Amino acid sequence: MSELKPTILDFTKEELAKEIKPAFRAKQIYNWIYARYVNNFSEMNNIPKAMKEDLESRFILDPLKILTKEESNDGTIKYLFELPDGKTVESVLLRMKEDEFDCDGKLVHHAKYTVCVSTQVGCKVGCTFCLTAKGGFTRDLTSGEIVAQVLSLKKDNNISPERRLNIVYMGMGEPLDNLDNLARAITIFKDDDGLSISSKRQTVSTSGLSSKIDKLGQMDLGVHIAISLHAVDDELRTELIPMNKAHNIASIIEAVKRFPIDTRKRVMFEYLVIKDKNDDLSSAKKLVKLLTDIKAKVNLIYFNPYPGTPYGRPTKQSMVDFQEYLIKHGLLCTIRDSKGIDISAACGQLKEKTEGEY
Ligand code: SAH
Ligand code: SF4
Repeated sequence: MSELKPTILDFTKEELAKEIKPAFRAKQIYNWIYARYVNNFSEMNNIPKAMKEDLESRFILDPLKILTKEESNDGTIKYLFELPDGKTVESVLLRMKEDEFDCDGKLVHHAKYTVCVSTQVGCKVGCTFCLTAKGGFTRDLTSGEIVAQVLSLKKDNNISPERRLNIVYMGMGEPLDNLDNLARAITIFKDDDGLSISSKRQTVSTSGLSSKIDKLGQMDLGVHIAISLHAVDDELRTELIPMNKAHNIASIIEAVKRFPIDTRKRVMFEYLVIKDKNDDLSSAKKLVKLLTDIKAKVNLIYFNPYPGTPYGRPTKQSMVDFQEYLIKHGLLCTIRDSKGIDISAACGQLKEKTEGEY
């Protein structure tokens, strides 16, 4: 098989400037790709023909092909993309209604967009509740393959280039297990000549590789972190997330305390609620204690069952009771509404469905 060309989306503007001559063209190329949504190098009108041909011969412009697209009743759209090597990953576009006042003080309604992106094909972490883990690990996504998910969703939904959106690294894979490509993608997203998505609008969700949380913090990229905690004692957490043995709860809490956080913001702790496993009030009590010294916010997630899983979806009452307990004891707490539940929007579930494993 002939070697696959890299995608031009893999390059930060500075890296691209080193690849081409003269370097100032990198800014123009960025603009064509991210702000004008061209689909071919030949459409880049102010770029000399020879350079366009050179780019064409060296790079892929769009590494993703939309394989399937499912829209949920609540407007959530889930995509399954094919990568250049035939592997597949998912991304989700979440749309929420938002009211804002414009500069004249007039109330305007528009959609607030959040894109949930994948960082790997499969995942090494092997959480026992997660469908992505079932297929094992295939490979890391390149930076460009991460960036392309947001670009494709913007293009496919006619979202204007200047429209702000949020990114959550909560799709398939463990972002901190692909740290270099993640960091480059964050930088590419931030570029004002590109998609211009400030790092404040980007949240990296991790299953808790504590040493990598430190590394990400040292890179000082300005992103938020969300910790997939899911359990308050190491025994249950190790059952759910086997690598908790090496990165236990205490080590994660310590790493979070060291992480550079915008003083106005809170660290998000995700807590996947599983029926009769971690949905009792004594777990809520331990959670309050665990997060005492942290400016935290807890997001409770309903476990979304799939055929073959030993775990069950918690009742609404137990979710509400859990939430009320946390709030009463001073923790901010939201319940993640089950957006897209009718299209199985939890990570890995569209891929599994499409590939016929259930
Ligand atoms: N690997 C990272 C990032 C994404 S995992 C992490 O674990 O944080 C994607 C998200 O989907 C996580 O918040 C995980 O808790 C959630 N998830 C996985 N399987 C789920 C299921 N069956 N029901 C509900 N949420 C699930
Ligand atoms: Fe990987 Fe996150 Fe799924 Fe765990 S929950 S297997 S870390 S993708």
